[in-house]
Amino acid sequence: MGKIATNIENLLRELPPEVKVVAVTKTRSAEEALEAYNAGVRLLGENRVQELSAKKDLLPPDVKWHLIGHLQSNKVRQAVAAASVIESVDSLRLLARIDDEAVRQDQQIDCLLQFHIASEKTKQGFGVEEADGTNWTEVAASLRAVRICGVMGIATFTDDMEQVRREFRTLALIFRNMRERHFRENEFFREISMGMTGDWPVAVEEGSTMIRVGTLIFGERIKR
Ligand SMILES: *Cc1c(COP(=O)(O)O)cnc(C)c1O
Repeated sequence: MGKIATNIENLLRELPPEVKVVAVTKTRSAEEALEAYNAGVRLLGENRVQELSAKKDLLPPDVKWHLIGHLQSNKVRQAVAAASVIESVDSLRLLARIDDEAVRQDQQIDCLLQFHIASEKTKQGFGVEEADGTNWTEVAASLRAVRICGVMGIATFTDDMEQVRREFRTLALIFRNMRERHFRENEFFREISMGMTGDWPVAVEEGSTMIRVGTLIFGERIKR
């Protein structure tokens, strides 16, 4: 068995069976992505639309591609055409644009709302205060082709696992409050995408339903 398949097998042995794995293939070759596919992974993640589109053409059609990086409005068309899930929706304006474009392309698209839970300033996402301060019932009712399927977040890049835990706990709380107040009738609102190579066990302890891991599966990334 190759290294990638072994890494996936080891991960799946430790992961509760209900938690989904998105294998993050950014900077990896299509061959490496295919090795993950052949080991049984069907959810692949990319943070750039162009790279996602290009790799999609080289992999089997039953891969579900997750866009996990910031989406610029001029790439919405390509993102809607290529991705199954856009995890990185970070503004209402972007959400509306995605909905318009999905209507135009006559297709449904699943989205997660990305919340800014980290202490670093650079990370994208809705502010934590926008979880409470937004009428999500109204937002969801205005959408025709987008299904809001839950939330996504990236914790601070730090060795302080107690800080990371607090941030994941915040995201899980946001999820539960939103579900209770706005998505109770909505069976699709069920995902908490949190946890990466360095912090996925903590994320799972705090209620993650979907982890996004690259390095753990494919090895260290060459910086680009
Ligand atoms: C790159 C990336 C990941 C995976 O990171 P690893 O540390 O390699 O597991 C997860 N989520 C997002 C948003 C990313 O950009």
